[in-house]
Amino acid sequence: MAHTCVHWFRKGLRLHDNPALMAALRDCKELYPVFILDPHLHNNTCVGINRWRFLVGALTDLDCSLRKLNSRLFVVRGKPEEVFPKLFDMWKVTKLTYEYDTEPYSLSRDKTVTTLAKEHGVEVIYKISHTLYDIDRIIEENNGKAPLTYNRMQTIVKTLGPPKRPIPAPTMEDMKDVKTPCLENHKKKYGIPTLDELDQDPAALGEEQFPGGEQEALKRLDGHMKRTGWVCGFEKPQTSPNSLSPSTTVLSPYVTFGCLSARTFWWRLRDVYQGKKHSDPPVSLHGQLLWREFFYTASVGIPNFNKMEGNPVCTQVDWDANPEYLAAWREVFEELLLDGDWALNAGNWQWLSASTFFHQFFRVYSPVAFGKKTDKNGDYIKKYLPLLKKFPAQYIYEPWKAPRSVQQAAGCIVGKDYPHPIAQHEVISKTNIQRMKLAYAKRSADPAESPSKSPSIKQGVKRKAPSVFDMLKKKERRK
Ligand SMILES: Cc1cc2nc3c(=O)[nH]c(=O)nc-3n(C[C@H](O)[C@H](O)[C@H](O)COP(=O)(O)OP(=O)(O)OC[C@H]3O[C@@H](n4cnc5c(N)ncnc54)[C@H](O)[C@@H]3O)c2cc1C
Repeated sequence: MAHTCVHWFRKGLRLHDNPALMAALRDCKELYPVFILDPHLHNNTCVGINRWRFLVGALTDLDCSLRKLNSRLFVVRGKPEEVFPKLFDMWKVTKLTYEYDTEPYSLSRDKTVTTLAKEHGVEVIYKISHTLYDIDRIIEENNGKAPLTYNRMQTIVKTLGPPKRPIPAPTMEDMKDVKTPCLENHKKKYGIPTLDELDQDPAALGEEQFPGGEQEALKRLDGHMKRTGWVCGFEKPQTSPNSLSPSTTVLSPYVTFGCLSARTFWWRLRDVYQGKKHSDPPVSLHGQLLWREFFYTASVGIPNFNKMEGNPVCTQVDWDANPEYLAAWREVFEELLLDGDWALNAGNWQWLSASTFFHQFFRVYSPVAFGKKTDKNGDYIKKYLPLLKKFPAQYIYEPWKAPRSVQQAAGCIVGKDYPHPIAQHEVISKTNIQRMKLAYAKRSADPAESPSKSPSIKQGVKRKAPSVFDMLKKKERRK
């Protein structure tokens, strides 16, 4: 039977290495490539204008690539559970395909949509292609638990062998019997949203340095892969977190939205490494992709992964809950990330805060000392906080310490043009170390609360592979 298929794009905004899309094209007479503008994105996630722009760019690029295959992208507005029954009936759909997504919201959304599809007699096919491996398989290989150390992750991955090879994008040959029925009013009804429609003010935007989309992703990947020596010698953290132009690939937003397949990235690196001396995980570029896989696996295997409470491997610290301080800080980070990713953000924060995975809580970054060591002149601050750019280097990390006359000369008065600090680092860091110390002591005293009784977390404490942050610190000390 020839099918009428909907391929549902969510992440995975690409044609290359898209096995679910290829499954849609099998025995297909009509194809509807769909992206759903889900209000959940607006209401429950912290997405800033730059990430919206990236998404709009990625959708525009996808539509453009689909047109070259005589197809189109249908952007449908609404909740997936409300949209799909209508589409199934209207288009007489017989098959639905999508890329598997491990985020909790996505899993429950997909379960609901799958039930609805079955009620409508629609066959559902999903494929794994957002991660290097089937995450459930990694967990199975580790006796049903997420590995809590990078070493353990490496061991498991070794037993699984290299990730599957990516598959090519569909060609005109694959599309020869497939039609995408399009109406005159396609743009009006199913067009790519504008930033205005997304309630974003384009006037607030800066220059677009990293445009969204598969073509841009592949171009950037090609560019980097030509730098054989750089790729083979890549070692994080021998990179510069506060350099003015990026010292790493900046492929993460492309991988996050799935404009670039992680497996394509992995195999291209493998091709560059082939026959040459090269760096290895955890510091190499392969190693970076394995960090991604590590945090993804943890996010699937650990309940309440993005929270402290109810997260069984997270140290339970008695933090303050000052709403004013929280409001001053919390919005900012996630909202501004171009590559904001639920699993990676939660995982890296747990690591960095020594709540999970990494346990040297007595090491605390100072926003002042770190900057002074790594960027004496404050060029990074001057670029991103132009309000402070006229401050002498001496005060650039602590403008509140500058005499009034210096603030006046710099055209920026602290308390008026720039906020007063909300915390005194020297004081609060000590208080917090004490809090962490108590939490760790409590954890090891109470076996019920103590994940450290499990062998894998012990490995975490003693782990051989140094963390990115470990090494960053070492690098600082060497200077
Ligand atoms: C507190 C904190 C929060 C973070 N939140 C996110 C997030 O929301 N989304 C996100 O994509 N990354 C996040 N990261 C990880 C990391 O900072 C970025 O992935 C990396 O900086 C992206 O730059 P790049 O593409 O140039 O990386 P490269 O160094 O060129 O690495 C290549 C690829 O490896 C992966 N990768 C690299 N570092 C990490 C890492 N530490 N963890 C997981 N994957 C990694 C990314 O896919 C990246 O594109 C966070 C890190 C920290 C410390």
